[in-house]
Amino acid sequence: MDLKQKLKSNIRLDFDDGLKLYEFDLFELGFYADKVRQKRFGKEAYFNVNRHINPTNICADICKFCAFSANRKNPNPYTLSHEEILKAVESSYNNGANEVHIVSAHNPHTGFEWYLEIFKKIKTAYPDLHVKALTAAEVDFLSRKYGFSYEQVIQKMLEYGVDSMPGGGAEVFDEKIRAYMCKGKVSSDNWLKIHSLWHQKGKMSNATMLFGHIESKAHRIDHMLRLRDLQDKTNGFNAFIPLVYQRQNNFLKVNKFLGSEEILKTYAISRLILDNIPHIKAYWATSTINLALIAQEFGADDLDGTIEKESIQSAAGAKSANGMKLKDFLDLIKSSGFIPVQRDSLYNKIKIYN
Ligand code: SF4
Repeated sequence: MDLKQKLKSNIRLDFDDGLKLYEFDLFELGFYADKVRQKRFGKEAYFNVNRHINPTNICADICKFCAFSANRKNPNPYTLSHEEILKAVESSYNNGANEVHIVSAHNPHTGFEWYLEIFKKIKTAYPDLHVKALTAAEVDFLSRKYGFSYEQVIQKMLEYGVDSMPGGGAEVFDEKIRAYMCKGKVSSDNWLKIHSLWHQKGKMSNATMLFGHIESKAHRIDHMLRLRDLQDKTNGFNAFIPLVYQRQNNFLKVNKFLGSEEILKTYAISRLILDNIPHIKAYWATSTINLALIAQEFGADDLDGTIEKESIQSAAGAKSANGMKLKDFLDLIKSSGFIPVQRDSLYNKIKIYN
């Protein structure tokens, strides 16, 4: 069937369709993606009031694209104490945050309990705060380092108060690209397996894709299709988050960077390919807030949140180190023609800002 006919009839797209979509005129592609977005969410734009905490940047791995871990380009190793973390959580909680998003480097010196105790202390002090923590890459690291199965690590996460898993560590699933840019990190199959095990516990997670570096368009479509296959089985992904590669302070040699058009096309294509993942998130920390606002017209319905403090993308050049004030965030969404909807981590609506 002709691709445009498929789009008009909402017929599931395949790999070749995904590639062909990149050849569409940007605004025609946006039209189709926006139609799907509007059907589901109208003009509502989701966000949450959250706090990102990155407890340590000391890492046993050496991903070429990474500017966050302590290495020779970023020689400032740190590990926050639990007291420092709790202080940050307290301040964010008092400012209205309902989620803490905790992602660390793979620190080989702290011990497994150090990670787990953070979650327990937060949950004990703030039982209603949603703890989103440990990427599948961290689960894999902890499993290998301390000799636990994935199931055992996940059981501990549940016991110590982790509510949902972030989508990081997926990068690009293609095995050759992965071997070049993050050899030693969790494999693609195991990333998917860990999320599958988490979903089997009745828990939700997100999925990312790091794009705009050495991967091809075909690798992006392949990545999306692997996620769609898993989602058909588990239905545990809340959101897909295409992360735009940040170019500073890392060891990945990239000669050509993506322009806005291809970034917007990638948002739109993910909306059209991922017919079973409800939310497409334009994570403004990597796309810039201006492009994230435009991405709302190209299939994205979620802008992440106020973040408050961010260390991973900002280390690579993103302008996200200090997050964004809630009022500014609301004003920007409204002036872009959308209705800000504050949500919780599981996309229940908390407040609609008409
Ligand atoms: S991306 Fe994560 S695992 Fe890889 S080097 Fe950076 S902190 Fe370590």
